[in-house]
Amino acid sequence: MTLRVLLVEDDRELRATLCAALAVEGYEMLTAASLSEGRALLQHADRPDAGIDLVVLDLGLPDGDGEVLLAQLRRRRGCPVLVISARQAEGQKVRLLDEGADDYLVKPFGIAELLARMRVALRHRGTTVQAAVTRWRSGPPGRRMDIDLLTHQVRVGDHPVHLTPTEFNLLARLVRSAGQVVTHRQLLTDVWGAEFTEHTHYLRLYMGQLRAKLEADPAEPQQLLTEPGVGYRLVEGDAD
Ligand code: CA
Repeated sequence: MTLRVLLVEDDRELRATLCAALAVEGYEMLTAASLSEGRALLQHADRPDAGIDLVVLDLGLPDGDGEVLLAQLRRRRGCPVLVISARQAEGQKVRLLDEGADDYLVKPFGIAELLARMRVALRHRGTTVQAAVTRWRSGPPGRRMDIDLLTHQVRVGDHPVHLTPTEFNLLARLVRSAGQVVTHRQLLTDVWGAEFTEHTHYLRLYMGQLRAKLEADPAEPQQLLTEPGVGYRLVEGDAD
């Protein structure tokens, strides 16, 4: 199955570079240089024979902010959105992720990183045929993290690790979005409940406990990463 990607980016050079790189990977590319072009392509793509599987969205566009396309995209269930932007503002990143963007990359970024994030986003939206994650294993031999979401068993290397129910629920939430950033609000809502969205100190406390139990050096985590001001990301560890 050929996956169709809509790239909305006004920088002509970057658009051409990304378009060529993604086409080489086998993606079918549609490109838009403005908000209005992007919107028109999306409307056209609402027809079943012209579906779009993923959107790569720049924010600074000549006729407006890419953010307004997110609302339109949210109605298209199953179509992940990766935001690419030169903006570093943490507040906006958080808002975009909470509004339904799957991930963001701050320019300049490498093609390999973009491709990896795209694969993760597509996997999580079930565009490729894959069962829901029930087990997650990653890390170097001897310190391989093995998390079984069905039996609630967690091991590091050969050693079983005991987690409290809250620690496990937090870890499980990150496993379900492995590779993707999960915002503070998403974590607090899903693990503690909607009334706890301001309690970010819970996250600092419990992430500290998880790192102490799971990371070789909790002060230099390799898998349970902090996205400053935004949230946390569980990444595949070094395989060597
Ligand atoms: Ca731009």
